[in-house]
Amino acid sequence: MRGKRIIKAVALLSGGLDSMLAVRIIQMQDIEILALNFRTPFFGGSRKVERAAEQLGVPLRVIDISKQHLRIVLNPKYGYGKQMNPCIDCHALMVREAGRVMEEQSARFIVTGEVLHQRPKSQNLQALKIVERESGYEGLVLRPLSAKLLPPTIPEQEGWVCRERLLDISGRSRKRQMELAARLGITEYSSPGGGCILTDPSFARRFRSLLDETPKPSLNDVYLLTVGRHFRLQGAARLVVGRNAHENERIASLASRHDVLMKVRDHPGPTSLLRGSTEHAVQELAAAITARYSDATAGQPVTVVAWRPDGGTWTHEVVPAVPGEHPEPE
Ligand code: SF4
Repeated sequence: MRGKRIIKAVALLSGGLDSMLAVRIIQMQDIEILALNFRTPFFGGSRKVERAAEQLGVPLRVIDISKQHLRIVLNPKYGYGKQMNPCIDCHALMVREAGRVMEEQSARFIVTGEVLHQRPKSQNLQALKIVERESGYEGLVLRPLSAKLLPPTIPEQEGWVCRERLLDISGRSRKRQMELAARLGITEYSSPGGGCILTDPSFARRFRSLLDETPKPSLNDVYLLTVGRHFRLQGAARLVVGRNAHENERIASLASRHDVLMKVRDHPGPTSLLRGSTEHAVQELAAAITARYSDATAGQPVTVVAWRPDGGTWTHEVVPAVPGEHPEPE
C-alpha cells in the first residue's frame, strides 16, 4: 500500500500569537511546516522565535535579509507606516524570500499570520494583494486567520487544505486569537508589534537624523544606531555612548578603522565611538561627553583615552560636559 503523500509548506514565524496560530491551524490539516524567521538590524533572530518553534514542534530557519531590507527601508515603493516602517514592502520581501525556500524545499505554499484589517495601511485587502503580487507568488500565500474573507488560494482550490477549517478573523481585536490560543494549547507567545524598532518613534527620529547627513548609510551605521546614546556633533559627526557593559562591548565591536573609540582613564565609565570627524575640537567635545557619563566628578578635569581600532592611542584632558551646555542625546 502506498503511504499518504506529505504536503509541505513554509510559514513566516515572528513568535507573535498570530503567526503561531497560523502555523498551528495548518499543522492541524496534516501539512508539514518549515518555519522561517528573518533577521535584519531592526528585528528578528530572537530567542522568542526559537521558543515559539519549539512550542509548535516545527523546524526553524533564520534568514538574514539585512541588505535587501535596508534597501527597501531607504526607498520603499509603498511608503512608510507611522514611523520608518515600510510594512508593505517588508512583507513582500519576506514572502518573496519564503517563496525561494518553498521552491528549494519542494514545499507547496506559504503561510503567514496576517489578519485582514489588523493594521489599516498594510493589512487591508489591497495591501495584501500587493504583497502577493510583489512577492511573485500570487495564489500561493495562505493567511489561515482571515482566509475565509479572502479569495480562495491555490492550496484551497487544489484541496491541499480545507477552506472550511480556516478562519474569518478581521480587525484589531485579539479576542478571537486569544480564545483560539487557549483552545489549541498555545500558552506562551510574545506581545504584538514588539519586535520591530522601525515602528519605535524615538528610533525613527534617530534614523531620520542619520539620513539627514548620511543618505546612504551602511549596515554598520544602522547597527550602530541600535545601541547606546547618540549625539549629533558637527555635520556628519556623531558620537555613540554605551549605557552598560553589553553596549560598550557592542560599540567597540562595531568600530571601523576611521572611527575613534574613547574611555575615561581612572574612572569607571562608558566606551564611546566617534564617527565622521577627525577634527580636534570635535574630539575634545566627544571626550567631554564621554566623561559626563563616567563616574568622574563634575567640574574636575579627567583624562580620556582615545584610540583607533587598528592602532594609535592618544589622550584628551577635559572637564566633563555639563547638561544643558553641551549637545543632548537624540
Ligand atoms: S513592522 Fe517592521 S517587521 Fe513588521 S512588516 Fe513593518 S517593517 Fe516589517
